[in-house]
Amino acid sequence: MADGGNAVQADFDLLLAGAGHVHLGVLRLWASGQRPRGRIALICPEPHVWYSGMLPGLLAGRYRVEQCRIPLPPLCAAAGVEWLPAAVAALAADTRTLRLTSGESLQGRWLSLNPGALPRAPEQQGAGMELLPVKPFPGFIARWQVWRQQPEPLAILGGGAAGVELALALARQVPSLSLFCATTLLAGHPPALRTRALRHLQAAGVRVHEHCPVERVCGATLLAAGRPVWQGHRLILATGASPLPWLRESGLACDARGFVAIAATLQSVSHPQLFASGDCASLADTPHNGVHAVRQGPVLARNLAAALSGEPLAAYRPQRRTLALLADGQGGALLSWGGLTAEGALLGRWKDFIDRRFMRRHGAIAD
Ligand SMILES: Cc1cc2nc3c(=O)[nH]c(=O)nc-3n(C[C@H](O)[C@H](O)[C@H](O)COP(=O)(O)OP(=O)(O)OC[C@H]3O[C@@H](n4cnc5c(N)ncnc54)[C@H](O)[C@@H]3O)c2cc1C
Repeated sequence: MADGGNAVQADFDLLLAGAGHVHLGVLRLWASGQRPRGRIALICPEPHVWYSGMLPGLLAGRYRVEQCRIPLPPLCAAAGVEWLPAAVAALAADTRTLRLTSGESLQGRWLSLNPGALPRAPEQQGAGMELLPVKPFPGFIARWQVWRQQPEPLAILGGGAAGVELALALARQVPSLSLFCATTLLAGHPPALRTRALRHLQAAGVRVHEHCPVERVCGATLLAAGRPVWQGHRLILATGASPLPWLRESGLACDARGFVAIAATLQSVSHPQLFASGDCASLADTPHNGVHAVRQGPVLARNLAAALSGEPLAAYRPQRRTLALLADGQGGALLSWGGLTAEGALLGRWKDFIDRRFMRRHGAIAD
């Protein structure tokens, strides 16, 4: 990474890059009085942190914008962390130097990376279709507000929990909606959850295309295995996480897909003075989802404090079973836990309680 000749600001003990779900937990704990000593700054381009668990409810009209996002400056101030409103453009892992989009370069004694990941996009030829990635959330929500003023047929790529929740939230707001999955719907969850979800999607009029890996967008046509499978002008990308390019080019050891390879302590396996967590990281038995990211928060908070003071680090032990509660677009939810599945309005109320509690804990308005 070239620093463009600019001076590097190097008096940070710790730099936090990205305000993902893990760093939110770190800020919350430090705001409650557990902050380690030293100069600490957080780099994040947005003044708000969006909570993905409430996004489907926002799109379905059940929540207001302010209920789904956490204002970052007050949380940083309470945690004694400087907020630097910029995005990371590049990282040189060997020197722990971050180049920001503002042109500044910052070096930290320790770094912690939690910038999330982006949906994978198919190859696009021609300009007949607008592709809208679900992340970053602020851009997605702003564009969706424009689309919904003039509803048109819509396609969603991605048959995981996010794609299903989005389809159920949006189906009744557009003339037609098609959902495309590369394999089966909700692969990785018990088959009974797929059956339940298919029933809800059918009731909402969603056309589900399983085993239909869309690889190309040609003008206004989606192509899978070289065949046209959908025609339209609006496509939402809710495909699984793909790594941010600047992490791959940083010199950090990455897995075959390009996610930062980390040890149980959440440290990079190649550069132990760098921590990485949440969707940008690759750790055994730890799928990319918000539940793991939230649970990594307390371990990371403790380990960053220990690293700064030269104490031993703790290990993150992923739970074998994680709870998934998928919003059904009508106020209810579908549950998957271990091999169990269930659904209903009561589960929707429970999900709402959990989500609002998360927001309240981080200082957002959630009522
Ligand atoms: C619609 C939808 C619903 C979902 N629902 C659930 C759910 O109910 N349960 C669940 O477990 N998971 C859910 N997920 C998955 C969940 O969103 C992710 O797994 C989780 O957000 C990962 O968190 P993270 O900590 O890695 O980073 P994120 O929460 O993605 O946050 C990344 C942060 O980094 C910032 N950032 C990005 N790039 C840069 C940069 N270059 N420089 C500085 N900052 C940067 C972003 O602005 C953002 O603040 C859902 C996903 C979607 C799309």
